Amino acid sequence: MKLVIAQMKHETNTYSPVPTPIGRFSSLGPLPPEGEEAIRAYRGTGSALGAFLQLAEEAGAEVDVPIAASAWPSGHVEDAAFEHIASRICAAVARGCDAVLLDLHGAMVTQSHEDGEGELLRRIRAIAPDVPIGVALDMHTNLYDGMAQCATAIAGYQTYPHVDMHGTGLRAGRAILAQLAGKARPTMAWGRQPMLPHVMRQGSDDSPNKEIQARCKAMEAQGALSASVFVGFPNADIEFAGLSAVVVTDGDEALARRWCDELLAMAWAAREQFVYRIEPLAESMARAQALAVAKPPGAGPVVLLDHSDNCASGGTMDTMTVLGAILDAGLEDVAAFAIFDPEAAQAMQQAGIGAEITLSLGGKLDMPAIGLKGQPRTVSGRVKLLCDGQFRNQGPMAAGEHNDMGLTAVLDTGKVEIVVISNHVEPHDLAAFTAVGIAPQRKRFVMLKSRVHWRAGLRALAHAVVECAGTGVCTSDYDLLAFQHVRRPIYPLDKL
Ligand SMILES: [Zn+2]
Repeated sequence: MKLVIAQMKHETNTYSPVPTPIGRFSSLGPLPPEGEEAIRAYRGTGSALGAFLQLAEEAGAEVDVPIAASAWPSGHVEDAAFEHIASRICAAVARGCDAVLLDLHGAMVTQSHEDGEGELLRRIRAIAPDVPIGVALDMHTNLYDGMAQCATAIAGYQTYPHVDMHGTGLRAGRAILAQLAGKARPTMAWGRQPMLPHVMRQGSDDSPNKEIQARCKAMEAQGALSASVFVGFPNADIEFAGLSAVVVTDGDEALARRWCDELLAMAWAAREQFVYRIEPLAESMARAQALAVAKPPGAGPVVLLDHSDNCASGGTMDTMTVLGAILDAGLEDVAAFAIFDPEAAQAMQQAGIGAEITLSLGGKLDMPAIGLKGQPRTVSGRVKLLCDGQFRNQGPMAAGEHNDMGLTAVLDTGKVEIVVISNHVEPHDLAAFTAVGIAPQRKRFVMLKSRVHWRAGLRALAHAVVECAGTGVCTSDYDLLAFQHVRRPIYPLDKL
């Protein structure tokens, strides 16, 4: 038995000014790893790709891993980058295989295709019309017909933060291996709802997604090969952005349809609960200070969540609105993770550890899609630390996977330790802090550029969390996003 196993992961924020060339698809070198290098990078990790490799090993299958390409979210994927990845996967399928297992995201928009994954799957189908294709998808998939029609079995993450990537790979992969063994006949039903849930209300520890994902798990306990609700990625102005569901049963089409419709109805009934109410930043700052004053001794930090500028949703990670408010308010004993500013990191490296320096920090990237210019802020402090920014996640999210923050520096203003990075990395893992010598649990305040994923590795440390509406292309304020391509009517843009 021979399996083609590959990864192509990107969540595209069509409002993001951050470019997405092929070089963004690897933390290990200028190009995404291929073959043995890809296997070495992902074997034993908590990724869906790691799960596929594990299943192949258990089955004694021969594997062909043409490429493992994963990029932090950003703007439209360059056509050349998509072709680089897709051509390698298609060439592997053309070499011949018994099945294809793909670790995809589900919300890739390229310069030419609104549905990057669907385009890849159509090309694979053109080469191998009958080969079983198992696909693991992110919960933020915006599901298009091409994806659903070309895949044999789809499984989506059931957690947000995504701590079940590996389990999702197992669900997708096992359905396909059972088919190859003649023990199952994966049968899929899928559908969409005209709704754009706010990302800030999508966490799977919170209602309504908690109950929806629990129902998916219950269906699997009752015999579904996989049941998935994709809450969708709304910062993408494409026709089919939004919520969808897929259920795979063993040969029972009617049951798959019934369960899929039940999940879609459940989500629709909860649509108002998926709407996020934004608190004005001044109120958030005042609340954070009050929480810190009332904090019992030994309690963890008050987390200030700069959720409009999360690089794991395509944010530039360099807007200074929330950090500026922290500096203006004179908050003390703060760690801020992080500001993306390669120029500032280089300036600190040239100044050297211990040097006092004044920088024009952040705000280097304009955000034309939301009508904003980048606004740097002049900040003075001491260069506390310089490092190469390499670390491996300790988990629970994407455990074992490598991260590359690039040249990284910590600027200590006396009140705030600001981590300055040269590659985008979202703080969802304690290792991001240990890599820069900061113990966040001992800080009074911690500012994080994140929306929901920070909960994976850091929520347990937090005494309280205050969601701060700053500036950026991951804004939850739909009035700031010019939706021109998404199908209408759609809730909550339209009253439904
Ligand atoms: Zn996601």
